[in-house]
Amino acid sequence: MQLLKCENIHMNYDSTKAVDGVSFTVDEGDFLCIVGENGAGKSTLLKGILGLQKISEGSVDFNGIKKSEIGYLPQKTQVQKDFPAGVKEVVLSGRLGGKRKLFYTAEDRRIAQENMDIMKINSIKNKSFNELSGGQQQRVLLARALCATDRLLLLDEPTTGLDPFVTEDMYKLISHLNKEHGVTIIMVTHDVKSAIQYANKILCMEHDGDFFGTTEEYLKTAAAKRILGGDSHA
Ligand code: ADP
Repeated sequence: MQLLKCENIHMNYDSTKAVDGVSFTVDEGDFLCIVGENGAGKSTLLKGILGLQKISEGSVDFNGIKKSEIGYLPQKTQVQKDFPAGVKEVVLSGRLGGKRKLFYTAEDRRIAQENMDIMKINSIKNKSFNELSGGQQQRVLLARALCATDRLLLLDEPTTGLDPFVTEDMYKLISHLNKEHGVTIIMVTHDVKSAIQYANKILCMEHDGDFFGTTEEYLKTAAAKRILGGDSHA
């Protein structure tokens, strides 16, 4: 089933063109990686899909999924790293869904606990968020995003700043969510080698034109061959 269809999306910052006519679709169960050079508009596109930033032209159509059922992990900011709250609180806050709540329900707490189990962060659940390592913080933020949804996750460079081992762990965890829990994933990454390992579809945004298709089709493109060299037939 098709979950999302984006057609000919254009986005600007004042007079700067940030996204220039991007089209792609996402089916339930897909793992789509958005790759491409810096400044190609990947983060801006995610914000456009979420309605956090205005689209000047084109359309974003969700099919059978509400905006409130989308989990979003934005690019890491200093504010996030220094978030002065406990791990449990951070995960639970994913149940707010933009609403103000005076208290969390038993169901909210059950879902938060379930996601802390999936992310294997039970042993740190009573710690303060800002005393965790970068990798632990990302796990907590993923658990938080999962509290909003078990259907569609939008992840913006979730491994930035993590060391190679923790990065691989993170990708495996995201892949596990996709394969074992059926969560559809849209992930921005600059790491093309990992993208082709885990994603079944690739959107490659380049200043001189985009590619959208299966990972196998992407491997045959000149852009993939340029980046991956001899590995592109792997
Ligand atoms: P990517 O995620 O692919 O690196 P971005 O979506 O961050 O690209 O940026 C796309 C373009 O929009 C770039 O030219 C960038 O300089 C510009 N841009 C991004 N954020 C802003 C902003 N807040 N204000 C003005 N221009 C921006």
